Amino acid sequence: MITFESWNELQNQVPDFPADSETKGALETLQWAYDTYGEKLVYACSFGIEGIVLIDLIAQVKPDAEIVFLDTHYHFKETYETIDKVKARYPQLNIRMQQPEMTIEEQAAQFGPDLFATNPNKCCEIRKIIPLQKALAPSTAWISGLRREQSESRANTNYLNLDNRFEKIKVCPLIHWTWKEVWRYVTKHELDYNVLHDQGYPSIGCAPCTKPAFSMDDIRSGRWSGSGKTECGLHTTS
Ligand code: SF4
Repeated sequence: MITFESWNELQNQVPDFPADSETKGALETLQWAYDTYGEKLVYACSFGIEGIVLIDLIAQVKPDAEIVFLDTHYHFKETYETIDKVKARYPQLNIRMQQPEMTIEEQAAQFGPDLFATNPNKCCEIRKIIPLQKALAPSTAWISGLRREQSESRANTNYLNLDNRFEKIKVCPLIHWTWKEVWRYVTKHELDYNVLHDQGYPSIGCAPCTKPAFSMDDIRSGRWSGSGKTECGLHTTS
């Protein structure tokens, strides 16, 4: 368990990852994190465009890294197709599909149909938060593709963060990357990505809760649009 004392101690030990390096500190952060946490580090990947960049960087540092996808059973078929392409390109990576305990039918029997519409927080808890808790249980730290530019709530994210919700260290190598830099990297390295990105979906989650973005000024505007919800809870503190 990460305590505030051990977190403070860690803060004194970590190197200053150079934000002006070729990958804006991302490769350096990943190298440090895998050297420090080894098998106790897992990447929870949604296979969005930041995930495509991170996987390519991770494969350079730890080719057999463990990567977990929260398979809510509500994802677009294009997302599953993207995962298949990534598996083919990086066969050494250990990509795991973390399943929720309930099928969609079991969830509907207990909470009523379309829980994503009637109570999306409960749906996210069952299908994302509890499965991530289980996936992270053996780990000390996890990697996330958060970028500061993505939203106000992410503007203060650091390379290393104390994640109170899951009681882990959260490693965020891409904090300094802009949307354009993410795409420049994907194009330069000819990486496969989710084709929905070309159809107006900058941020891709579960199909019932994701629409094309209204504005590229807020690339997450298509997520849970009209419901008042902006985050699934994986990156909030409570
Ligand atoms: Fe359910 Fe929507 Fe959350 Fe997916 S994003 S788990 S469908 S509420």
